[in-house]
Amino acid sequence: MSPPLPIYEIYAVKYAGPFTRPVAKVLWNVDWDKETDINYYLWVIKGNNETLIVDCGVAPTLAQQMQLQGYVNPVQVLIRIGVEASQVKKMVITHIHFDHANGAELFPNATFYVQEKEFNFWIKDPVAQKPPFLMLSDPVGNAYLAKLEGTERLVFINGDQGMLPGVELLFAPGHTPGLQVVAVNTAKGTAIVGSDCAHIFRNYEEEIPSCFIADMVSWMKTYDKLKAKVSSLDLLFPGHDTKMLTDYPEVAEDITRLL
Ligand SMILES: [Zn+2]
Repeated sequence: MSPPLPIYEIYAVKYAGPFTRPVAKVLWNVDWDKETDINYYLWVIKGNNETLIVDCGVAPTLAQQMQLQGYVNPVQVLIRIGVEASQVKKMVITHIHFDHANGAELFPNATFYVQEKEFNFWIKDPVAQKPPFLMLSDPVGNAYLAKLEGTERLVFINGDQGMLPGVELLFAPGHTPGLQVVAVNTAKGTAIVGSDCAHIFRNYEEEIPSCFIADMVSWMKTYDKLKAKVSSLDLLFPGHDTKMLTDYPEVAEDITRLL
């Protein structure tokens, strides 16, 4: 018999927001006349011997350019639970949108785990320079990652791949061509840090994506795949829902424990 899998804790770390958005933007084509709030997050997955971070957030320069409301440098938020960004060794990038990848420079000793398909699209495919993609992309973070290609600090993932005992990266395209999520063994079973497979919990509940769609057919298949993987649906987490901050125990300012 193999030894039991290690159990991890998952923390949501809010670094910007709230931002008021039309519901139709976070829930494709629904409630054009209504608004809702979202936050920007990164996540910490903590085991006995390993801590890994999911997504980099936004660095101060871009935050200032965009005048991001409620912004705090992710480095300063993480330190509230004792995570020193400069000491982070493992960073999963779910997808290469600015709010998830711009802050790569904040983690100067991290190894970045990204789907090769996602990297090739945003860094190398000319289609990524077309307006609908360009508006979600950021040249600074992309250049930082591009520079790491061929070094030990950039690990390409292809499809579903185990990362640590009890931590698996799952290919989950739809929102972007090569988005990946993180399946984690927790005290309540398998949970998924799903990033922008859903902006809010309602995306999963209603099986309606956000309006930022690279491939709708893949996205619907991704919903089936993630729902089949989690131990229960409340363990499937979105990328931007304010409930991650309000509905879970707060362990430090702007940080909650999801599991
Ligand atoms: Zn996002």
